[in-house]
Amino acid sequence: METPNLRIGLGSDLHRLKENVPLNLGGIRIESAWGCEAHSDGDALLHALIDALLGASHLGDIGEHFPPNDPKWKNAPSKDMLADVLLLIEEKHPHFYVVNVDAVIQLEAPKLLGYRHAIQANIAHLLGMDVERISVKAKTGEGLTPIGTHEALATQVVVLCDLG
Ligand code: MG
Repeated sequence: METPNLRIGLGSDLHRLKENVPLNLGGIRIESAWGCEAHSDGDALLHALIDALLGASHLGDIGEHFPPNDPKWKNAPSKDMLADVLLLIEEKHPHFYVVNVDAVIQLEAPKLLGYRHAIQANIAHLLGMDVERISVKAKTGEGLTPIGTHEALATQVVVLCDLG
């Protein structure tokens, strides 16, 4: 049996929260008074996922592929960036596949439990994977740090990939 060419990837993101800005996480619109200040659609969960995939495949980082000053990505859906990155990885590793994804969203409010299934299902759809292999968890900042004072939202994502 061939040994799997497994690679782990880690991604994180941090965005300042702003009132009256839409909040998108994992491609799902969240009902919220605050959203992420950003050049793109500010989807911090997809941004961390992209960085994790780039890390696992040794292809650099999100800032290198999607410069924040590039007008092409102004208000762009992050799912388009993810699709571009998947193509890039498949060019280098044609048999590449993602084994599983585990993610944490740190946000004081609103509670994300009611969105968890939709977020997991959407990420599974974007990656062409079974939803059982995608895990998204949410944590508050317990009133501490810029997370706890509603100033920021942070995300962390790990992926396990087989480069084939
Ligand atoms: Mg970001």
